[in-house]
Amino acid sequence: MFAQVAIEQVPDILFTYRIPEGMEVLVGQRVSVPWQRIYRLGYVIALTETSPYQPVKPAKPKQGDLFAADDSEASIKAIAAVDDALPYFSETIIRLLRWLADYYSVGFTLALRSALPAPVRAQGAKDRELLMVIPITPCPKNLPPLTTRQQQLYSEIVRIDGGRLTQVCDELGTTPPTVKKLAAAGYIRCERMVVARSPLKGRMVMPARPPQLTSGQQTALTEILTTDKPVLLFGVTGSGKTEVYMQAIARTLDAGRDAIVLVPEISLTPQTVSRFAARFGKTVAVLHSALSDGERHDEWHRIRRGEARVVVGPRSAVFAPVRNLGLMIVDEEHDSGYKQDESPRYSARDVAVVRATMEHARCILGSATPSLESWRNATELGKYTLVRMPERVGGSQLPSVAVLDMRQADTDGKGVPIFSPPLIDAMRNRLERGEQIILFLNRRGYAPTYQCDHCQTAIMCEKCSAKMTYHVKDDTLRCHLCGAWMRPPMRCPSCGGPTFNRLGFGTQRVEAALHAILPSARIIRMDADSTSRRHSHDELLAAFRAKEADILLGTQMIAKGLDFPNVTLVGILAADRSLDITYDFRAAERTFQLIAQVSGRAGRGTLPGDVLVQTFQPDHPAIRLAAACDYENFAAETLADRRAEALPPFKKLACVTFIGEDLAHVSAAAEAASRRFEACRGLTVIPAMPAPLEKKETHWRWQIILKGDSSKGIVAACEHVLPKSQRISDKLRILIDIDAVFLS
Ligand code: ADP
Ligand code: ZN
Repeated sequence: MFAQVAIEQVPDILFTYRIPEGMEVLVGQRVSVPWQRIYRLGYVIALTETSPYQPVKPAKPKQGDLFAADDSEASIKAIAAVDDALPYFSETIIRLLRWLADYYSVGFTLALRSALPAPVRAQGAKDRELLMVIPITPCPKNLPPLTTRQQQLYSEIVRIDGGRLTQVCDELGTTPPTVKKLAAAGYIRCERMVVARSPLKGRMVMPARPPQLTSGQQTALTEILTTDKPVLLFGVTGSGKTEVYMQAIARTLDAGRDAIVLVPEISLTPQTVSRFAARFGKTVAVLHSALSDGERHDEWHRIRRGEARVVVGPRSAVFAPVRNLGLMIVDEEHDSGYKQDESPRYSARDVAVVRATMEHARCILGSATPSLESWRNATELGKYTLVRMPERVGGSQLPSVAVLDMRQADTDGKGVPIFSPPLIDAMRNRLERGEQIILFLNRRGYAPTYQCDHCQTAIMCEKCSAKMTYHVKDDTLRCHLCGAWMRPPMRCPSCGGPTFNRLGFGTQRVEAALHAILPSARIIRMDADSTSRRHSHDELLAAFRAKEADILLGTQMIAKGLDFPNVTLVGILAADRSLDITYDFRAAERTFQLIAQVSGRAGRGTLPGDVLVQTFQPDHPAIRLAAACDYENFAAETLADRRAEALPPFKKLACVTFIGEDLAHVSAAAEAASRRFEACRGLTVIPAMPAPLEKKETHWRWQIILKGDSSKGIVAACEHVLPKSQRISDKLRILIDIDAVFLS
């Protein structure tokens, strides 16, 4: 017997190993194999009766011939050992990864890497073993007598029922050698035990009883449980989708099957996790990049061993090794964070649907603002079942949204202010009433442009085609693409002028302006700069929840999933900021989603909510319809545009990016490939041109956009024009992004 083995460090090739007599090997197991004089860990992908090399025996072997005459079966190296009897991958996951590798045009081993958290892949990653103290009770007879103090210690250990050695010593004020003497005498045992490092540890997990579903929820749940297609659960913010998920999970567990819940990374707050933990207790596992390596390792193995049967996690959790998937949920399915931004550039939402289908599991895609892809699948194409939840739980109204035209706001000729007068009035009013406010601005730092007063030249990053953002806290200019920073220059590098203007505003400037206008307001600012420490994100949200602040000011990290009943005002500053990225055909869709999501934070409790949207484009459909909470008309209008322009979801689109330090080389390679793509049939090619983000970290970037009727056709063309082996060289990297979400 032979095994095909994927070795993580050697992408794109599967190796054949012999299975030695008497060794039992299963598909999906992790094995240790000899590879170039060392042993490496690999994963068994398939078993075969015969070696694929066998028939090849050239009559006259040439020098360097891969299958030289002595390449008999016996010369194929053997697997050294099975690392772990329990497989790491089920056959279905391997099938899923094969699909993924083909669909996204990447090597199988790369696909496999994305299915295992790094701490699980790491060689030598181990369960944590702790020395535990276990008292033997009742006290055994005929043991050597103890001193009075030992006698005391023994009864104390019995009283606290033992525990971790270090903890026992701490608690009883003794030392490990003293405790071990008791063990030597036979009164207690000291044993190594595997103790899982749990991210839920220390959080009160008392199973909460499910509430009675509202009639809207009940109808939705019934439809979910009866259809045999994936469900698009289109429910407005606050309609109780999460409760529907949980009751569907409960049914799944009752039926002896497991569930995976994907949530956007940013909404993996303790709040979300606690809701699931409170309902399902220890069967919940959390996979999250903010966990420690040890926690991630242990959670993953808990799932693999079948000890955890409900998995909550971000996109990579779509590969979680649950044994019998019965339900797959993708919450906020429109979220662009489900698309992995490095190779393999898979969409976890799409992988989720494929996996659920392969395992005959139910699948729910939930959103208040579905992606146009899913909307079309559910309405026009009938691939999904559309389930609506148009009303909020408890009948609270959707917030009323007012659009403030900032073109009119420059009343005194001093330029457009950060806040329009109605927003200031509304904020004052909430402060007086003791209610809370959320302010949203998708730009961090103080001022996004630092420009010469004389020649108007903006300071650019030396390595990227991006303006430097001024940060007031440490008086620096920072590049938000590569992280480079510098002190503001004394003179303009262009004309030598001595004075500069700081134009535009980011969250830091808004914070300063708030302090000036509302001196008594307590403000929490949440952006990448204020949340760099590991738990700071959670701590800031907890403080806001505890009403330690009046205003939560932040970037998109506050846009999703948060549920603060005391928030009655949401202000969106610069709502059109994402609209001026004209090169991206999804800009309008994103703006709509953002406004709808952020507005959904208002009025979730018993108090009604108001949303004020500041914009320079009050008539833009994305803003107008988002203000009217009218998703369906927005979807209809935007889909009509997309159809007319032959854009997704009507066509498949891929983005091929050429990256290298030598501009001439990059552009020449892109142009040559572009011409070869144009010769492929059935493909529309937007020829090579500089990418919107033309230079990043000293690397130039050129782009080709491909459109076609099927991903298969696009992938075939890519394999033909740019075979995998030619995509990386010393001078050039070529990235292929199938179903690209961001064209940057
Ligand atoms: P969504 O996920 O659709 O935004 P949630 O599931 O967060 O909505 O529900 C909004 C609020 O309503 C939450 O505070 C939740 O606890 C509450 N809720 C949901 N369903 C019920 C129910 N059947 N009975 C009482 N409260 C509910
Ligand atoms: Zn830069």
